[in-house]
Amino acid sequence: MKITAKAWAKTNLHLGVGPLRGDGFHDLLTVFQTIDLFDTVTLETIEGEMVEEGSVVKRLSVTGPRGVPEDATNLAWRAVDALVARRAEQTPLPAVTLHIEKGIPVAGGMAGGSADAAAALRAVDAWIGPFGRETLLEVAAELGSDVPFCLLGGTMRGTGRGELLVDMLNRGKYHWVVAVFAKGLSTPTVFRKHDQLDWPPNFEIEELSEALLEGDYISVGAALHNDLQISALSLRPELRTVLTDGVRAGAFTGIVSGSGPTLVFICENATEARDVADALIDGGQVLAAHVASGPASRSARTRGAHILSIED
Ligand code: ATP
Repeated sequence: MKITAKAWAKTNLHLGVGPLRGDGFHDLLTVFQTIDLFDTVTLETIEGEMVEEGSVVKRLSVTGPRGVPEDATNLAWRAVDALVARRAEQTPLPAVTLHIEKGIPVAGGMAGGSADAAAALRAVDAWIGPFGRETLLEVAAELGSDVPFCLLGGTMRGTGRGELLVDMLNRGKYHWVVAVFAKGLSTPTVFRKHDQLDWPPNFEIEELSEALLEGDYISVGAALHNDLQISALSLRPELRTVLTDGVRAGAFTGIVSGSGPTLVFICENATEARDVADALIDGGQVLAAHVASGPASRSARTRGAHILSIED
């Protein structure tokens, strides 16, 4: 059996970061939105090779950028094991291989690993499920704070560590430029910097909620906010120039995506976004600049991580 699942990248239209909690996480108030950069995860059973105990995953391969682990530390691998462990009966299963095609920047604040985990959960669910929404979301939250959102997609408000999700009303489709840098930023490093700087959290999303209801890119652009931006910029000062360059080239505004260093710029339309992307590439500071739109999908079936194909 061969199952391919797809998951979108996310950005944070708002990211408010509260103080460090006793469990090592921060309380967040965030607004997630999918954008249409994506990874696919293919799970394929190895016929005739049954697994009595231990991981069902025998191999994991990746095509795309460097820096993605091809072992049991990969979040997709861990997702498969975590959901397999939730079966009612622990009977032997065929071994599987995993293959990830990465379109989402690595270590870029776009939830690449989380997206792969969410796609892997959908693939296992299609293979030996259904496990039900509640179990999927529970396992997702155990794997990482962004995994539940990657599973559900769309535009959602996240609280807790970002795993407590509520749908937000959004009328618009937004045109983004996603500026990617050669060197990623580690999420824990950016949070540590944030703790040192000790800025008060911004938990105000009223203006953004209204802007999303209106669906107008200028109002949404004016309401974008990221509490981690100062930390990301202090760790990578060169991002400032690129933020300015994007706006000079015609973007309404730009912001650090999640923990960065990826920058996202909101533009009036796809043509303008293309011009901004070209200008950033010409500027020579970015590794790549993609034109993307968000939310990635509005259809109930494809708004979050979803199955692309199943072959027997
Ligand atoms: P987030 O936005 O959720 O904070 P990110 O987009 O900044 O995450 P990822 O692309 O998820 O970062 O990668 C962070 C690190 O996680 C990588 O440097 C890599 O070592 C590890 N990792 C584990 N599994 C994966 C995966 N499937 N894809 C990418 N990175 C992975």
